[in-house]
Amino acid sequence: MNPVIDLRSDTVTQPTPAMREAMMTAPLGDDVFGGDPSVNALQDRLAAMLGFEAALFVPTGTQSNFCGILSHCQRGDEYIVGQFAHCYRWEGGGAAVFGSVQPQPLEHQSNGTLLLSDIEAAIKPDDAHFARTRMLALENTLGGKLLPFDYVQQATSLAKSRGLMRHLDGARLFNAAVAQAAQAADQKAAPTAQAAIAEARRIARCFDSVSVCLSKGLGAPVGSVLCGSREFIARAHRIRKMAGGGMRQAGVLAAAGTYALNHHVARLADDHALAQRLASGLQGVEGLQVEPPHTNIVFVDLVGAAKARSADLMPYLKAHGILATGLYRLRFVTHLDVDAVGVDRAISVIREFFSA
Ligand SMILES: *Cc1c(COP(=O)(O)O)cnc(C)c1O
Repeated sequence: MNPVIDLRSDTVTQPTPAMREAMMTAPLGDDVFGGDPSVNALQDRLAAMLGFEAALFVPTGTQSNFCGILSHCQRGDEYIVGQFAHCYRWEGGGAAVFGSVQPQPLEHQSNGTLLLSDIEAAIKPDDAHFARTRMLALENTLGGKLLPFDYVQQATSLAKSRGLMRHLDGARLFNAAVAQAAQAADQKAAPTAQAAIAEARRIARCFDSVSVCLSKGLGAPVGSVLCGSREFIARAHRIRKMAGGGMRQAGVLAAAGTYALNHHVARLADDHALAQRLASGLQGVEGLQVEPPHTNIVFVDLVGAAKARSADLMPYLKAHGILATGLYRLRFVTHLDVDAVGVDRAISVIREFFSA
């Protein structure tokens, strides 16, 4: 029996033996008292990497965005955000439910950006009729798409010039950074970790706060980190407590995160190459429209007559040991625990389905 090829998400990875070793040997303390050296080391490390004063380890990316939004915005404020952004669409409306902060969603362009003129038009005048527009949230990568860096600069300078705070949901910031570094190097060789970290910092510098997931492509089992100014992180710390995110000997998890930052940044290029391999392997299949991936996520749409077969496809894949998601579109995500053999098997199973 072949092993299952799990392409549902980059969250499914198991910690590597070396990462487990780092977790096993991590010095621990009670982080609610600020006394867990491994948590403190992770927070200091990522803050320094991205050029922020401080950082906060949180259990999930959702809680990280929640703490970020509620630390920038008060009750009755609003944040401008993309229609498909995670912190609008995929977090149960938490900022509105628990924080009384209203989202102002905008349509995305096909490259994932929000039009500057739409952002401008969404900023409300100071008038009792309106919520106070307080923040712009961007996401990079967004659905695996790298936002063009000049766009990130333009959108965040516009926000700044209008007095808005700027939050980046950088759940996959390091995928963005690796792709951006590859672009800068003209794709000749996979970028070094150092080059990728420099790009991550360049992106992060455009924002007042950045949230990074350790549990996605970086391959840690649990955790995200929110970065910002010392004062901002002090507010976020209070909100994390209210959200029940004050964990105790959390260093056992944070150590996995530090290990991932030390060892798993440059290898994201492998995931991107596998996504390319999958996309190329599915090119030319009748009825499939494959979106060329920028990073580690491949979206595929069924078109024409193939559309009618979409209900049969997922059970077929599953029966053949290939897991993917298909909530809106078919989505395949590459990560630490899939290799070229697995990707090639996924390609042949999908091809078989459509040739039958
Ligand atoms: C996964 C993800 C999150 C949330 O992370 P969880 O740890 O699953 O809560 C937030 N934003 C983006 C862009 C994500 O991909």
